[in-house]
Amino acid sequence: METELGHEAEVESRESSALKPRLDWSYAPSRESTDIVTVEERYGLFIDGEFRDPKSGEYFPTIDPATEEKLSEVAVAGPDDVDAAVSAARAAFEDGWSQMPGVERAKYIFRIARMIQERARELAVLETVDGGKPIKESRDFDLPQVAANFFYYAGWADKLEFAFPGLRPEPLGVAGQVIPWNFPLLMLAWKVAPALATGNTVVLKPAETTPLTALAFAEITIEAGLPPGVFNLVTGAGDTGALLTGHPDVDKVAFTGSTAVGKAIRSQLAGSDTRLSLELGGKAAHVIFEDAPIDQAIEGVVNGIFFNQGHVCCAGSRLFVQENIHDLFVDKLKARLSTLRVGDPLDKNTDVGAINSPQQLQKIQELVESGIAEGAEIFQPACDLPERGFWFVPTLFTGVSQSHRISQEEIFGPVLSIMSFRTPEEAVEKANNTPYGLSAGVWTSKGSRILWMADRMKAGVVWANTYNKFDPASPFGGYKESGFGREGGRHGLLNYLKGAH
Ligand code: NDP
Repeated sequence: METELGHEAEVESRESSALKPRLDWSYAPSRESTDIVTVEERYGLFIDGEFRDPKSGEYFPTIDPATEEKLSEVAVAGPDDVDAAVSAARAAFEDGWSQMPGVERAKYIFRIARMIQERARELAVLETVDGGKPIKESRDFDLPQVAANFFYYAGWADKLEFAFPGLRPEPLGVAGQVIPWNFPLLMLAWKVAPALATGNTVVLKPAETTPLTALAFAEITIEAGLPPGVFNLVTGAGDTGALLTGHPDVDKVAFTGSTAVGKAIRSQLAGSDTRLSLELGGKAAHVIFEDAPIDQAIEGVVNGIFFNQGHVCCAGSRLFVQENIHDLFVDKLKARLSTLRVGDPLDKNTDVGAINSPQQLQKIQELVESGIAEGAEIFQPACDLPERGFWFVPTLFTGVSQSHRISQEEIFGPVLSIMSFRTPEEAVEKANNTPYGLSAGVWTSKGSRILWMADRMKAGVVWANTYNKFDPASPFGGYKESGFGREGGRHGLLNYLKGAH
């Protein structure tokens, strides 16, 4: 009797709890395993199809920014090493790669694309531990995009004479490519895939803080049977980058990174006939009209600035909201910010991972302090941050004026500056009030207004009712201090062909 009563009471209590709204949305940890990844204690340089000790004799550590633990040490390429890499690339260019029929080159690039897909999980974990980005982003965004870029450009390799009517497609020679730390393997793909497809050979320098996936890529080129010297990798810091970009036997320099370094490279190459393309910083305007689908726009804004901790050149870091919906929009945005999960990048539930380096964290902190000092109002949700590692709470500023540093300078972190506007003309004027011109976003339910805005906003890409959408077939690049040249799509081939600019 007593048991039966106990059972009934239990059923009743289960039913009533099922009807109660669930207010606790916390997630149990769901950590991706690192067992799939093997990291060597030390890596050499990848030159002429093999890993070698650096002539410099020097190495630097690469660490996990979420734990501050050393993952490995990596060779520093000095002048002799960069020379050797460029010579190997020159020999491979002359000895066969440039004359190989496109249909044969394509086979290597397709093979690389398939091997990237096969090793996608491993590469995603490696990208996350070396750079701090959430595993759900490296797994669901970076790696699929990396493979897609290799597939896309493999498809062009035997069709180059149809890509640009009237242009006889001829490769330039040796491409020296320098990439940043925010999308390490994806930036490699954006640069290496079109260069190889067009018959050029490559020397690549990854960023100092994120060399591991580029080193794994070098292993993939061995497994794919890519002829020695077609792809070479020189690791090191800015000095190594400068040795490569200034090397007299490099025919083409492709750089993605800060505007300051982009300008330095441009001065370095002044007077030379080395071809140059620059993909630099941004301070994108994200414009929300009163007739926008508000809840979708909130998601777009969150994606626009908190994706990859805001370490994104096209991040929507300046938000312009039409005045009559400003307060409503800000309230909703604050509520949404409070649900973002910040922490262990290997946890599959994490939305915002670790800041890439202590230097970058310091830069973000300094600019946020300037925002407070200049009178903007800061909002940060309550957030438990891990004890070790480099972290920054998702942040928004209201009451921002256009002269504030936080609305002018690239913060490259999870920090949003919010301003308002009344008319479309005012939105355009404010959106364009920046030295940059990489990207922009507009949210409205009127198609004509989207076209009107897109015509007037000075940005290489304008997203409408969405943000951060990428496709290998779509060109990407900037105006003004955001650089020049387009990567991606058919246009991306032009960077690596003679007679094309
Ligand atoms: P950098 O521009 O310094 O780094 C980009 C790449 O260039 C890295 O591989 C770097 O090497 C290399 N490099 C540095 N100096 C030289 C040089 N003189 N010649 C040739 N190559 C060089 O960016 P940071 O990492 O210092 O970041 C600073 C700021 O730049 C960020 O806060 C952000 O605002 C912006 N940035 C913008 C990016 C974008 O995609 N638009 C990407 C990265 C940064 P190493 O890293 O080893 O020093």
